Amino acid sequence: MILMKDIYKTYGNGVTALNGINVEIEQGEFVYIVGPSGAGKSSFIKLIYREIKPTRGSLQINNRDISELKEKEVPMLRRNIGVIFQDFRLLPKLSVYENVAFALEVIEESPRNIRKRVMEVLDLVGLKNKSRFFPNELSGGEQQRVSIARAIVNRPKIVIADEPTGNLDPDTSWEIMRVFEEINNSGTTIIMATHSKEIVNTIKKRVIAIEDGLIVRDEQRGDYGYES
Ligand code: ADP
Repeated sequence: MILMKDIYKTYGNGVTALNGINVEIEQGEFVYIVGPSGAGKSSFIKLIYREIKPTRGSLQINNRDISELKEKEVPMLRRNIGVIFQDFRLLPKLSVYENVAFALEVIEESPRNIRKRVMEVLDLVGLKNKSRFFPNELSGGEQQRVSIARAIVNRPKIVIADEPTGNLDPDTSWEIMRVFEEINNSGTTIIMATHSKEIVNTIKKRVIAIEDGLIVRDEQRGDYGYES
């Protein structure tokens, strides 16, 4: 569960991106984060994977207050959270297989188990037969599939995606959404910032709208609610 109480975030330049956020997200939910540019969506998302710290307020993830997390405890939190970006962020010199294996926590895993797990997630995203390819040999949609495989290889409880279809054409975007739905069906929480009116209005999920650093709407099976 993710629990935010009175969260404020003011950046070093004095800009206040979050202005008193209160929200609860249960394990296994699928949540869209929508709102105009500059509303605070990325800041909201970055708080959850501890890319940034709140200026004020309390943030609990799975019953731990992560605003009080020590730096050395951050990797442990990140292992439980997979992150996916609009621009994929794959390592260009590593193959598809290596990009995913690289992210796998290899503590006490045999090479055989590592291979098994990497191929299992590549299979789930439909890229088992491209494991030897390099990122520049893949389409945008395929690169995003690799980044999804990388995000879920450690079996995180939460997957965060910041505009994951922002660089993809509509057909490819729908395919990527199917992958997210499949991951969600296995019990993983999905939190996705998006500007896609079509996706939000078609694949109905909880919608949290943020404007000027505040939650202005929070609806189950909500609409996008803005013009694209
Ligand atoms: P969104 O994702 O909805 O576009 P952001 O969370 O990126 O919104 O930004 C919210 C506000 O915070 C904007 O005014 C933005 O300019 C500001 N902001 C975001 N990141 C930083 C940063 N690292 N330093 C200073 N200001 C920032």
